[in-house]
Amino acid sequence: MEIVYHPHPALGWKSTPVQRIDSGLRKTVEAMFELMYESKGIGLAANQVALPYRLFIMNATGEPGDKDHEFVFINPEIMKRSGQEEGEEGCLSLPEVYGPVTRSTHITVSAFDLSGNEFVLELEALPARVVQHEADHLDGVMFTDRMAAENKAEIEDVLERFEADFRRNQSGGTIAADDELKKKLRELAETQA
Ligand code: ZN
Repeated sequence: MEIVYHPHPALGWKSTPVQRIDSGLRKTVEAMFELMYESKGIGLAANQVALPYRLFIMNATGEPGDKDHEFVFINPEIMKRSGQEEGEEGCLSLPEVYGPVTRSTHITVSAFDLSGNEFVLELEALPARVVQHEADHLDGVMFTDRMAAENKAEIEDVLERFEADFRRNQSGGTIAADDELKKKLRELAETQA
């Protein structure tokens, strides 16, 4: 398992609901937590490891041993939102890129955990921001897509560099072509269904 970078097609993919919570999925989630901590992240969506499933993980403290703050959100729905605030965001799929994004201050989110139990959380501030950022990934939306035009203009060069690197790796054969990557995503989505 590895994190994929912009503009990998998985990052623009609208993911499929998880149908089965089984040992395979639990192993996937465990590997995602390891990867997130290695990369010093506080959230990671399945899309970012090229899995087209509606699931993400979060530990807003970023502390690997802090199990109390580890959350798995399977088939999440943001049911309520209120307030708005701007804050700086980054993404493990766009290393070293940061920019301001306006998000709801308070949210109510429902999801299933790894035991298949539904839970509802009311969140604010950073955890609310992380959930909104990660939930966007499941719809193929990057935080840069949410940035105001004038702010996005400032990082346009960096985004182009990511795109050029990605295409170069595809030409060099270290990353498969988009068509092949999309075919794989479709196959994976069907496997879960
Ligand atoms: Zn992200």
